[in-house]
Amino acid sequence: AKALGKNRFCYFVPSIQAIFAERLQLGHDLRSAMAQGQLDVYYQPIVDLATGHIVKAEALVRWHHPRRGWISPAQFIPIAEDIGLINGIGDWVFRRAAGMAKRLWESGCSGTPAGAPLQISINKSPRQFFTGHAHETWIDHLQEIGLPAECIAIEITEGLLLDERPDVTSKLQQFRRAGVQVSLDDFGTGYSAMAYLKRLDIDYLKIDQSFVRDMTSTPSDRAITEAIIAMSHKLGLRVVAEGVETREQRDLLSAAGCDFGQGYWFSRALPEDEFFKLLQRWPD
Ligand code: C2E
Ligand code: CA
Ligand code: CA
Ligand code: CA
Repeated sequence: AKALGKNRFCYFVPSIQAIFAERLQLGHDLRSAMAQGQLDVYYQPIVDLATGHIVKAEALVRWHHPRRGWISPAQFIPIAEDIGLINGIGDWVFRRAAGMAKRLWESGCSGTPAGAPLQISINKSPRQFFTGHAHETWIDHLQEIGLPAECIAIEITEGLLLDERPDVTSKLQQFRRAGVQVSLDDFGTGYSAMAYLKRLDIDYLKIDQSFVRDMTSTPSDRAITEAIIAMSHKLGLRVVAEGVETREQRDLLSAAGCDFGQGYWFSRALPEDEFFKLLQRWPD
């Protein structure tokens, strides 16, 4: 037992140190990443399940580190939040994504045969709402570049809703009043309460990929997914299913009346130019 304890000691201590050292190093590198052009924004299509058209895309930030290669935003966004870089990065992503939306709009790429613009959906973490950041600048920016607000959506998470600060609701309302749609991301993973949905002004709900992944094998996950879709529709919300990886998942979601699908079955997130090429060869 003693030997085991010793082994554990030897195993854990360096790894904890390594984790801290790595975070510190990454945070340091992240400070110069934007200026050195290491960040990019990729776009993942969101498909209308009834028509098969690409109607939206989610903007996802990418970091190509000169020595370590690709680093996941799931790893560096929390670091950016801790060291006060999230608003700088978030604003940069927003401007890039709005520029992409403008490019799509000007080139006549639309999300529907009727010509509705292809909407770009941009993640905004709770920290971006709480740090006294002037979110009005995002709305102003759309006016400056002459982009209709309906070309943009904001994805928020349930983390935002845990906080009962009244200004959260008013900030969301400001976006919606300006014409920017709001989507509730990762639904079902946090402290999801139906009461939030009633209280909040949102347009879309994104079912977390964990439910979608298991819905073909686990009856309860399928039941939950179907219930979320039915409930959302009754509340006047539209539903995006995340993490659609198989034909079977896509078909089950369609049968359940889910509005939109996003996932590797359709496409991974792509660099701007590749996304344009995908649109051109996408069957309409
Ligand atoms: P998210 O907002 O839930 O984004 C969806 C994630 O699922 C993306 O990971 C996407 O590449 C991945 N994904 C898409 N389809 C599939 C699929 O079929 N299967 C699987 N297994 N995964 C799929 P990614 O790009 O690594 O982003 C991770 C998280 O980082 C995002 O989760 C989001 O929370 C955060 N993030 C990314 N970009 C930004 C950003 O610009 N701002 C902020 N605040 N957060 C961001
Ligand atoms: Ca998202
Ligand atoms: Ca999500
Ligand atoms: Ca997530």
